Amino acid sequence: MIRLGAQLSQAPGYEYTVSEAGQAGLRALQWFSRNPVGGQSGVLPPPNALRQLLQQHHIDSVYIHAPYFVNPASVEEAKRERAMSVLSQEMRRARRLSGRYVVLHPGHWQHGASRAESLDALTATVQAMLAVPGHILLENTAGQGKELGDTFEELAAMFDAIGAPRRVGMMLDTAHAMARGYALASSRDVRALLKHIDGTVGLSCVKGIHLNDSAYPVGARRDRHTHLLAGQLTREALYAILSWANDADIPLILETPGRDVSQRLQDIAVVSGFQQLVKVDA
Ligand SMILES: [Zn+2]
Repeated sequence: MIRLGAQLSQAPGYEYTVSEAGQAGLRALQWFSRNPVGGQSGVLPPPNALRQLLQQHHIDSVYIHAPYFVNPASVEEAKRERAMSVLSQEMRRARRLSGRYVVLHPGHWQHGASRAESLDALTATVQAMLAVPGHILLENTAGQGKELGDTFEELAAMFDAIGAPRRVGMMLDTAHAMARGYALASSRDVRALLKHIDGTVGLSCVKGIHLNDSAYPVGARRDRHTHLLAGQLTREALYAILSWANDADIPLILETPGRDVSQRLQDIAVVSGFQQLVKVDA
């Protein structure tokens, strides 16, 4: 089954957001638990009421995207302590929001530090987050600037160093993969990417897909998401990804431009087109 979801703003209120998603037939959601670029963290809704609301709307997978204003790979003591504190708090906030996973970008390689030192710092931050119950997904990045985690080899090394395979998995972002140089123009490309992921981090590590198109060309190392089929992704490749997600029962989260469901209707329609085909075949 395709379990499609979207990154949604909770600004209109959790009740409104969940019912809007449910009415559009979404089965998954992603939220920031707080303003991703900084500021005070807001008040969360009562956990039980939210859980019931999600159940009522058949939304079974909630992802909480970690904020961007801390660098989990910082080698500076004070900055890393701040990252550990904010991200550990995020693990607690995720539980209160029925979040199954906290999605984390692995951070930036810092000027003056070696890449290995930055990776060690990231390992320490993730291990500190794991002191709080819950699960973490590291996301593959576009490799823009000094972003870490842009290759699956590097992500595999991170997973090995962290050493908590039951609690740490991967979020596969299709736009970031393309921007980093993994083409997704044919079903053959998709098979090659999946084989590569299987040979590095292992496919069973993938617990969610950020289903986005890339506005910039393959290999540009520039991170800008666009609507499905409006960028580098072809319908053939998209259908191959959906077919895999369908078989492996992996939720898909749209992070295409927009903040609410109405701005993603064209993307939802593209995925529905695939679902119609699957139903005809069955
Ligand atoms: Zn993403």
